[in-house]
Amino acid sequence: MDDCIFCKIARGEMGTDFLYEDADVVAFADIDPQAPVHVLIVPRSHKRDITEVSPELLEKLFHAGNILAGKLELDHFRYVVNTGKDAGQTVFHVHIHLLGGRTFQWPPG
Ligand code: 5GP
Ligand code: ZN
Repeated sequence: MDDCIFCKIARGEMGTDFLYEDADVVAFADIDPQAPVHVLIVPRSHKRDITEVSPELLEKLFHAGNILAGKLELDHFRYVVNTGKDAGQTVFHVHIHLLGGRTFQWPPG
């Protein structure tokens, strides 16, 4: 996907610092953080949303998130996966938000 921003970031074309990376997954700070810790966990391969992600890749994405949460010493945190425009998805390359460093309300808005 030539014009997908997260594909470009994952290919290293934007000079983004990766907080985590392996063969299939990268993670980097959100450009507009909604919490003191706000990291996006992103597969290197382009998938529109989480419904397109295989069980194997889902495991890798959440495993990366758990490693990061440990590395960042988060004692509580929230994963968010907005799926579809009306759920707040704005970038159509699947990503998991890892939010931490503050208290969270329930239910989310
Ligand atoms: P969504 O709304 O699709 O669930 O989340 C997209 C997220 O990507 C937003 O939180 C937004 O701030 C972030 N974002 C959009 N463009 C960029 C970018 O170019 N770099 C980074 N680091 N984050 C981005
Ligand atoms: Zn993409």
